[in-house]
Amino acid sequence: MREQLELLLRLQEIDGALTDLEWKAEDLPRRIADLEQQVETIDAVVKKQEVALETAKKDRRKLESDLEDTSARLDDLKSKQVVIKTNEEYAALQTEIGYAEETISEIEDSVLALLERIEGASGDLEAAKQSAADSRGVIEKEIAQFQEDMIRQTEALTIKRDERVRVAMNIDGRMLERYERILESKGDQVLVPLVNDLCTGCYKKLPPQQAIEIRRSDRFFECEGCGRILYWGGEEQDGEE
Ligand SMILES: [Zn+2]
Repeated sequence: MREQLELLLRLQEIDGALTDLEWKAEDLPRRIADLEQQVETIDAVVKKQEVALETAKKDRRKLESDLEDTSARLDDLKSKQVVIKTNEEYAALQTEIGYAEETISEIEDSVLALLERIEGASGDLEAAKQSAADSRGVIEKEIAQFQEDMIRQTEALTIKRDERVRVAMNIDGRMLERYERILESKGDQVLVPLVNDLCTGCYKKLPPQQAIEIRRSDRFFECEGCGRILYWGGEEQDGEE
């Protein structure tokens, strides 16, 4: 019986380790996905700056084309000055020339403002790219590390599962069934030591006679409070009872 108890305790230890390994195995892909999400966010910032710069450059091309058109129109108007016949025609032409010159001056101001915007956007883009490269470097290292951890984790899980099979093979079939049933319902410890006459699973106090029996024998006892398997671990805690 003592040997069975030791095997069950070993099984419980393996199950604890397996729970931990399985949790980590599920957690690592989540952490990798989080990091990949961060990279996407960083890329989106760079993309936004690229679009801002492209838009400013497109606006500039549009203004320069407007400027060319208006200049051509101004040249055309000026060429008409020599063939004007009447004072009215001359006055009308002068108004049109004045209007075209004003438009050109406005466009030139806009181009200057746009050049500043382009310079600013270029600077922002460079800064965003630099910052993205730095962050990406750090994050990609972390991702690589997590991926390595995942491989190790998978190997550790395989080893632990094999170990569980080997230990479980030597446990009495009915005992193993009982263990699995309690594990399923409790989700944690199946075997708990008796300490100071208390079940350390639910802290129910056992009748003194039963506690004595557990101490004396190698038999397994099921706790009336929680159904876990009680065993005598040979230890009492000071300061209680
Ligand atoms: Zn209990």
